[in-house]
Amino acid sequence: MDKKSRIYIAGHRGMVGSAIKRKLESKGYQSIICHTHKELDLTDQQAVNNFFKIEKPDYVFLAAAKVGGILANNTYPAEFIYQNLMIEANVVHAAYTYGVKKLLFLGSSCIYPKFAPQPMKEDYLLTGELESTNEAYAIAKIAGIRLCKHYNQQYGTNFISVMPTNLYGPNDNFDLENSHVMPALIRKFHEAKVENKPEIVVWGSGKPKREFLHVDDMADACVHMMENYDYMDIGEFVNIGFGKDITIQELAELIAEIVGYEGNIVYDTSKPDGTPQKLLDVNRLDRLGWKAKITLRYGIEQAYEWYISQK
Ligand code: GDP
Repeated sequence: MDKKSRIYIAGHRGMVGSAIKRKLESKGYQSIICHTHKELDLTDQQAVNNFFKIEKPDYVFLAAAKVGGILANNTYPAEFIYQNLMIEANVVHAAYTYGVKKLLFLGSSCIYPKFAPQPMKEDYLLTGELESTNEAYAIAKIAGIRLCKHYNQQYGTNFISVMPTNLYGPNDNFDLENSHVMPALIRKFHEAKVENKPEIVVWGSGKPKREFLHVDDMADACVHMMENYDYMDIGEFVNIGFGKDITIQELAELIAEIVGYEGNIVYDTSKPDGTPQKLLDVNRLDRLGWKAKITLRYGIEQAYEWYISQK
């Protein structure tokens, strides 16, 4: 990738896409192509084909997806599977048709089986039942990985895939119902502090363990892979993780401390826990020369500052 390459970021307004855009700009890439959802509907095959035909991108970051937390995934499974399958199929096929040099597909750690041994190695893909609360999304993401793999196999394309752990940071969705745990708790704790609430409700038992990676680290890893590796070096895909996880209870306590909330934390076990643990094995990532740099405390402080700045 040279500084004049035409680079298309699908999903540049989302948390990951916007972080990739900031990263590329800071590194001096000059021809970044972006279209809003309104300008280009990625579920529309003809629109996607026209776009590739006219813009002829050299490199593609496929960061567009319908995403959401445990409740959204559980409530709108049809939308999650349909929209994600359509986006992937349209963009991957157009990238092949119009000669894209390299494409990076963003998956998710929920592609792994619910009871996969921890930490989860790339080889554990398709070795067991998925977690039911986000199965629709996971199936779509697995299809995306295999789309890239089989296009590489049959057509000799260079489509690489990365599987991020739970991400957080600027441009996250802070909606209380449909977001992931990190933004939801940052907001809940902030509002509870401001409103002097004596008690705050955290979903589930607090016992599930999750790994969190700041999105600026994720963007750094994506650009690192795009700049330095081809699919043959990477294998089917590579996990992008922080390397360590914590319980939801520990996370809640850390956020309370950062936000400065001193009331009680109670756990609502009528809400789902989801998969018991989700920690990625980062050996392959290590071998590819990348490590997370942003600590959880610093990352949450930054995310909290961003959230406050948007109010
Ligand atoms: P998951 O990683 O796919 O399970 O998705 P989430 O990030 O939505 O949830 C992770 C864990 O945090 C689950 O055990 C949730 O029950 C728990 N959790 C606790 N409080 C909240 C909350 O306010 N919102 C969300 N989304 N999850 C919460």
